[in-house]
Amino acid sequence: MEKVLRCDCGFEVHADDEAKFVAEVRRHALGEHGMQFSPEEVLQLAFRTELGEGTWQQRLGDETREDTS
Ligand SMILES: [Zn+2]
Repeated sequence: MEKVLRCDCGFEVHADDEAKFVAEVRRHALGEHGMQFSPEEVLQLAFRTELGEGTWQQRLGDETREDTS
């Protein structure tokens, strides 16, 4: 099953292998945006963005303002 994650900057990761997908996302996030994600976080982000709950970058604010919605 193909996994896809689209970054705010327009970069898209497509991979049919989960380990490869995680590696690509982490490399992009760190190299282009200076953000470090654990493999678990990458998979959570991919799941959330599939559901249309926003982007990985919006997620970064979730921890500091949980009840402002
Ligand atoms: Zn990006």
